[in-house]
Amino acid sequence: MTRGFWSKLALVLFICAALAAKAFADGETQPGRDRKQPVDEAYTAKMKKYTTEPFFTSPLVDYLPASKTVPTPEAVLGDVSGAPGILPYAEDVYKYMRMLEKASPRVKVFSIGTTEEGREMIAVALSSESNLKKMEENRALLGKLADPRSLNLNDAEADKIVGQAMPIYYVTGTIHSPETGAPTALMELAYRLAVDESPYIKDIRDGVITLITPVVEVDGRDRMVDIYRWHLAHPGQNYPNLVYWGKYVAHDNNRDAMGVTLKLTENVMNTYAKWNPQVLHDLHESVPYLYDNTIGDGPYNAWIDPILADEWNLISGRNVADMTKFGMPGVFSHGDFDTWSPGYLMFIAALHNGISRLYETFGNGGADTVERTLEPEDYARTWYKQNPPLPKVMWSQRDNNNYEQTGLLVSLHYFSENKRMFLKNFYLKAKRSVEKPKTEGPAAYALPADDPRRTVQLELLKVMQKQHVEISRLASAATVALPRKKEKKAKGGEKKADEKGKDEKPQPTTRTFPAGSYVIRMDQPYSRIADALLDYQYWSPEDPQKTPYDDTGWTFGELFGVEVSRVTDMKILDAPMERVTDLTVPGGVKGEGTVFAIENHAEPALASLRYQLKEADMQAAEEQFEAGGKNYPPGTIVVRGLDRGQLDSASKELGLSPVALASAPSVKMHPLRAARILLLHTWLSTQTEGWWRLALDRLGIPYDYASTQTIAGTSDLREKYDVILFPPIGGAGSIDNIVNGLPTNWGNPLPWQKTELTPKLVGRNDSTPDMRPGLTWAGVARLQEFVSDGGVLLTVTDTAQFASQAGLTSSVNSASSEKLKIIGSVVGTRLVDGASPIAYGYGEKVAAYCDNGPVFSLTNMAGSRRRRRLGPAMGERATGRGTKSEPDFAVGRLGVETPEEPENEVWEALPLTDEQRRNNPRVIPPAMRARVVLRYADAKDLLISGLVEGGGEIAQHPAVVDAPLGKGHVVMFSINPVWRGETQGTYSLVLNTVMNFDSLNTGRKDAEK
Ligand SMILES: [Zn+2]
Repeated sequence: MTRGFWSKLALVLFICAALAAKAFADGETQPGRDRKQPVDEAYTAKMKKYTTEPFFTSPLVDYLPASKTVPTPEAVLGDVSGAPGILPYAEDVYKYMRMLEKASPRVKVFSIGTTEEGREMIAVALSSESNLKKMEENRALLGKLADPRSLNLNDAEADKIVGQAMPIYYVTGTIHSPETGAPTALMELAYRLAVDESPYIKDIRDGVITLITPVVEVDGRDRMVDIYRWHLAHPGQNYPNLVYWGKYVAHDNNRDAMGVTLKLTENVMNTYAKWNPQVLHDLHESVPYLYDNTIGDGPYNAWIDPILADEWNLISGRNVADMTKFGMPGVFSHGDFDTWSPGYLMFIAALHNGISRLYETFGNGGADTVERTLEPEDYARTWYKQNPPLPKVMWSQRDNNNYEQTGLLVSLHYFSENKRMFLKNFYLKAKRSVEKPKTEGPAAYALPADDPRRTVQLELLKVMQKQHVEISRLASAATVALPRKKEKKAKGGEKKADEKGKDEKPQPTTRTFPAGSYVIRMDQPYSRIADALLDYQYWSPEDPQKTPYDDTGWTFGELFGVEVSRVTDMKILDAPMERVTDLTVPGGVKGEGTVFAIENHAEPALASLRYQLKEADMQAAEEQFEAGGKNYPPGTIVVRGLDRGQLDSASKELGLSPVALASAPSVKMHPLRAARILLLHTWLSTQTEGWWRLALDRLGIPYDYASTQTIAGTSDLREKYDVILFPPIGGAGSIDNIVNGLPTNWGNPLPWQKTELTPKLVGRNDSTPDMRPGLTWAGVARLQEFVSDGGVLLTVTDTAQFASQAGLTSSVNSASSEKLKIIGSVVGTRLVDGASPIAYGYGEKVAAYCDNGPVFSLTNMAGSRRRRRLGPAMGERATGRGTKSEPDFAVGRLGVETPEEPENEVWEALPLTDEQRRNNPRVIPPAMRARVVLRYADAKDLLISGLVEGGGEIAQHPAVVDAPLGKGHVVMFSINPVWRGETQGTYSLVLNTVMNFDSLNTGRKDAEK
């Protein structure tokens, strides 16, 4: 470009800015620079140079005020924020923020914790000097608004505080690592808030405390910067996809605000709870050019306060309006994002009485300036997008930074102008949360002290605690009235005949919770998050929203497999109880003797114990037995030859209660193994398996971690491992992708390695010189060999589909569903074979997480893909003589009874006919047939929480199957038992498989032929 062009562009920009400034009325603070304050000319010129169109900036960010004492981002970046080719590591961003802190009394930096890989997370407070001096005082004031009980819910007292307190607006950047713009945008924003003397920025500085976490996913940011450096050093080549972000998960780091399993969520949550900001605003990049998607589309989460929905509209409306006046195209606030799931990071605010916000700005996945071509739906003008983005445009990271900063500044200004209203709303929402039992209910949730899964109950309570929800414990038993159940009526108003008898039984009208039961009171400020997690969700198949953005159901009591009772009787709140903060389950050995029995209630802690006491002799009882007047269920763990003290201290730590027996029970037992585990991953995507690593790490269960590439070249898998876990892959998990990986016949290698150029790329995970090769057919053969030699391969959803398609199991067919719509829901499953060790500890009904899981069908003929159930079955006699139950006749001979058709349940294989058994090498011998452990519930019972549409397609089909292969087993899950730290109730299906890997045939009942 010539100099002449740039000076003309500068003129256009100036005119734009002047026009935009005029768009604001007299009396409103005009956006734009203070003419008395000098501008950093060099910095400003570069900003302009990197902005690709004059309308991709605003009067708020088209200049940078100069300062003699405060360094600009250039001091660290070597160029301006958003410059092409420049992505700072997190530590450089921090370095700059700390330079600001040193240079300006308007900046304070706080450390807010570390990541899984030990990197620091920070929050930067920006406000006037006097505001920052009073930050602690202000924190106390906001604390009172956040907990209106401290004001006795007195509105007049609240108003006094509303008049004094300074609101806090919390901005978080780059949780999604390939969305790279936020850190530099936030560096420059911090500079502006510290230095700019224009009235507009002064309003913000005097009226709001801006809190910024510039990098949320710090581990992932550093890896992304490495990948980008590699890309810059290899122009013209393909560069590796960011296959690892954080230690455990990628994109799902923004789905953790329910389970709070990741450090980044916990750190932001604690920062939120400490400072009580009124807004949590999370920055993302995907949609052009600025989609303020908080108000998005319905359905809205049912547990948010409607005041919040109004606030979303207010702030968002003003945000779009102001940027429209600046002439910036592509700014809008509706679109295809529903606000149903509370799993997003921003939702910490939504369900803790604040305001959640989220921007999708446009990004290039790095700092290259690139010509981008949009999809028609992106550039179409719609009712909510009057000034849509352009179909084709050159886009730069600077453009992105202009949009992010402008959006934030107009939001901050609007917030500052209306701070009293927002502070009052903050108080009102908290007050309404405290009044919840009276106004809408329930009164509380109760978790009974006699729940057999106390360690899992504890895990659920720990989630509540991480959510800063108050937990109480009953000092004595409490009896509450149960809500009257509505009579079930069949269609047409008549009761069904078979239901009449049931309804006549007297229903209990009260429920007594024993002393020690946990109570989560709803008369507390954070009642909404507790209610949202513990209640049930219903997403109507008739909902106009046909594409749910994320999970539709998550009821934690169900997914944890523990009882959570929704109590509407207000009397519960008067029961004697005490707040508890130190959550433990009393454990330890009871009784006298040298043999110990531990009841199995499918608690994952049992596996932790097995691995902690690796050398101990532990056996699983195959049937129930009686000892000391007590009945022990199948799967009870019998420990022998172990020092009592050792078992006692381990069980105390884990909350388990072994009982010492006088002698070993005479029941049949088999060894329970601390099996050697390999967790298998692909180089396609590591996120979904990441949740499995997280679960195993938390339980203290060791495993090796290797890729499909590695095992393809490992000849002695069985010598090294007993169990290979092959968790779901996610979107890319087709057999073609698993086996072939990415194409290697063309293109360049995609290394994932620690080098001088990429020093931070490899964390505590895996590395390879080339991410492209897959498992290969040789790898499939290795897996087959491993199982045939007695190993267990555990497969889930898409990897189960792979196992079936790759021929690792001939008795289970796996098909993708066609009309079924189960979008991340909690569904019912039923125990089919309680004698299988996989089911130890489980009852007849098991709630599980399902996401359109593949539909399994069993067959007794290898290679048979045909499902006879298609087409009309001849269930009745043919047309002919006689009554319906009589045989037909043929003239000239007697009628014959027709042979009975073999019958089967949906989850069973179709029994073989005599004809099929004739000379048929495909017939699978009974001992090699698949065994169904759990099946999906009947269609009417399938939905527990979320969305189930067309459930008939998967109803009654197998949900967990054990398919023998040679001496080993391929275990297949259609449900996903390990998901986002939310499904602890089904973890033991996996852990049982692991610990019983060489005894999975226990209790098998084989057909006779
Ligand atoms: Zn994102």
